[in-house]
Amino acid sequence: MAKKQRGAEDVANSGGDRRPWLGSHLSIAGGMHHALEAAETLGCDCVQVFTKNQRQWKSKPLAEGDVMAWKAGIERLGWTDRRNRVVSHNSYLVNMASPDSEGWEKSVTLQRDELERCEALGIPACVAHPGAHLESKRKPGEPNVLGVAPTPAEEKGLGRIVAALDRLERETRGFEVRTALENTVGSGTNLGYDPGHLAWIRDRVAAPERVGFCFDTCHAVAAGHDMSTVTKAQSVLARLDATCGLDQVIAVHLNDSVGDLGSRKDRHAHIGHGTCGIPCFEAVLGVPAWQEIPMVLETEKEGGLDGRSWDAINLEMLGSLSPRA
Ligand SMILES: [Zn+2]
Ligand SMILES: [Zn+2]
Repeated sequence: MAKKQRGAEDVANSGGDRRPWLGSHLSIAGGMHHALEAAETLGCDCVQVFTKNQRQWKSKPLAEGDVMAWKAGIERLGWTDRRNRVVSHNSYLVNMASPDSEGWEKSVTLQRDELERCEALGIPACVAHPGAHLESKRKPGEPNVLGVAPTPAEEKGLGRIVAALDRLERETRGFEVRTALENTVGSGTNLGYDPGHLAWIRDRVAAPERVGFCFDTCHAVAAGHDMSTVTKAQSVLARLDATCGLDQVIAVHLNDSVGDLGSRKDRHAHIGHGTCGIPCFEAVLGVPAWQEIPMVLETEKEGGLDGRSWDAINLEMLGSLSPRA
């Protein structure tokens, strides 16, 4: 009892025991629960998974045994107290902005399957790339124009995403899982390179409480948002707050960027080995609203140093950059 009271006092003195929850996107090969076992071995606070093969339109429904093994794994990790330790990432095939009605229908159907799987597994957030409008393409070298209203083609695409999310909300009413729209590098005709796009969608859906956001550091920098100094990183985060609201971000992807600032290249580098800059990670890890939400690596695992996995190395690096480290 005395011990417990002292603990409560410590928390009060430190202004709360909140800290970043660090984890990684881990493989479900051999069964969904394998990702949880790997998370335990790595000492992760949280994890991101696919709930099926992310490159196939058709997949087997989750078996009861899969769900039971998953829930047992969550229990063993002690992740039952709160529900936001796990995030899923949707299939790369989903394009909710597709102008082709058949493609749009297929995407909505696949995304509904994603949400149903999350709900069955008790996963509270499903990260989704907003989509590509597939109209007038820009040249590869052409930069994103940031901080301005979407173009007419972009607006049409964003409208189709709103329609998709509204339909999904009607078809999954009562579900707890939220869709976390992720910022993108803006390659091809992909939407979401500017936080204004993400806010545009959430502002127009019928049930905004079912929509949150995912912030990816690599995508932000490759999209053209300079976070290389403390001041620059803070101003990117301030704009994100003003448009989307930092408290509506329900997952963070911690990746460094191989591509240069504004390169529109989606290639993830190990933390400290890319163009994001250490101040970018310090700023992101220090956002008060982002303590105790899943922050996960999506970086290559193979080929670490001294027999260690890259995840272990990157997690240690992120831990050292975290507040009160
Ligand atoms: Zn990401
Ligand atoms: Zn990426």
